[in-house]
Amino acid sequence: MTLSVAIIGSGPSAFYTADALVKSGIDARIDLIERLPAPFGLIRYGVAPDHESTRKVSRSFDKTARGASLSFFGNVEVGRDVSLDELRQLYDAVVLAVGAPLDRPLGIPGSDKKGVFGSAAFVGWYNGHPDFRDLDPDLKVKAAAVVGVGNVGLDVARLLVRSRAELEATDMPEYAVEAIVNSEITDVYLLGRRSAAHAAFTIGELREMGELEGASPVVDAASLPTSFDDVPEEDRRIKAKMVDMLRGFASLPQDRPKRVHFRFNAAPREVLGGDRVEGLRVERTRVEGGRAVGTGETYGLPCGLVVAAIGYRSPVIQGASFDERNGLYVNRGGVIDAGLYAVGWAMRGPSGVIGTNKIDGQTVAKHIVENLRAGAGKPGRDGLAELLKRRGARPTSYADWGRIDAAEIARARQGAPRGKFTTIAEMLALLETG
Ligand code: NAP
Repeated sequence: MTLSVAIIGSGPSAFYTADALVKSGIDARIDLIERLPAPFGLIRYGVAPDHESTRKVSRSFDKTARGASLSFFGNVEVGRDVSLDELRQLYDAVVLAVGAPLDRPLGIPGSDKKGVFGSAAFVGWYNGHPDFRDLDPDLKVKAAAVVGVGNVGLDVARLLVRSRAELEATDMPEYAVEAIVNSEITDVYLLGRRSAAHAAFTIGELREMGELEGASPVVDAASLPTSFDDVPEEDRRIKAKMVDMLRGFASLPQDRPKRVHFRFNAAPREVLGGDRVEGLRVERTRVEGGRAVGTGETYGLPCGLVVAAIGYRSPVIQGASFDERNGLYVNRGGVIDAGLYAVGWAMRGPSGVIGTNKIDGQTVAKHIVENLRAGAGKPGRDGLAELLKRRGARPTSYADWGRIDAAEIARARQGAPRGKFTTIAEMLALLETG
């Protein structure tokens, strides 16, 4: 009997799960249900536009999507077009591969002021995500603060100081290129609440900060740790290497027009200003037992833009028990409930690299295969198609995506990989034409 599996989402964790299910050899019809008309989630809308090589993984997802057992239902939102309960009635197994697309709140006084953004929104804006293309951040400010020293913080800081030539070679939408190139930002402050030895970014991404055409990294060598005793032993070597790299930055000439300042032991306590952000009140910290502890000493950091790159949360979906504290679904190794699974960031939170999702996908596929052998036979794809038709939804197929993809490639700026459509309406309108 053919089993029906619905995977909600079409980013890396969704595709790795689908691929693992196909490779398991079970007789299954697998449907990817995606809120946007275009697939690939984080690969298309999260990976930095100047990291095009990271996006190449979508080629293998494309192969998976073209497999005989897969179908893509784009422009279908769970909670709007179909409920999770309905999907569970229609499918033998449902997998939440929805990632963690929401910002963790900064949660300090003043963080609701204009000019304060979470990185999900800000990254979505410069990546042409339909939800955020109208964010319209005011970049006519001299200085920006990026809170959080993970790879997303580095992405945001780096892109804010990239030159026109660097940005035009990417698929960053025109509106974002123009806003960044015409911005008045000369200084970006990257704030780590713990020491440089505790920074979450990785070494390849840090190296790039020393290779920017128009910006110099600024590091106070005296602020860097010399002991790594309070770092887990297995991380010490790599953290020491990163601190060495930062020390190397400290001795570089600051000869470029813009600067990215690395500030560690710096915890933002309040967003200053009136209606709009005018600065941050920052408290110096020391690390005790692995945690940042305030010293009571504070200083003001003038800035007209704040981007909090402090991690993400999954969305609450009615019918799936949610762990509010950690912002993900309550699950055991990917199992939420009988026939309901979570994978990737929805399962373990926003950490790791894209390839980490491959292991998650294999784990969840194994659970599904084991549990489904017991018997199945729900209506699956045909039932969903029928329900969506009744509701007047307009799902996009993988062939539709092929047309959007080709049109985006055809309309790319010279030297850029594609010119993304940044509204759902534009994508659907294209599909209405001949
Ligand atoms: P992340 O790696 O977890 O970094 C989050 C940063 O925010 C940490 O420095 C954290 O400090 C800080 N933070 C958290 N809460 C804070 C608060 N209330 N106040 C001040 N600082 C706070 O998260 P991410 O940068 O969003 O990245 C998510 C995942 O995607 C990571 O696995 C990352 O490596 C990956 N990613 C990879 C790439 C790439 O490979 N090029 C690019 C982008 C993202 P503490 O450590 O003190 O908590």
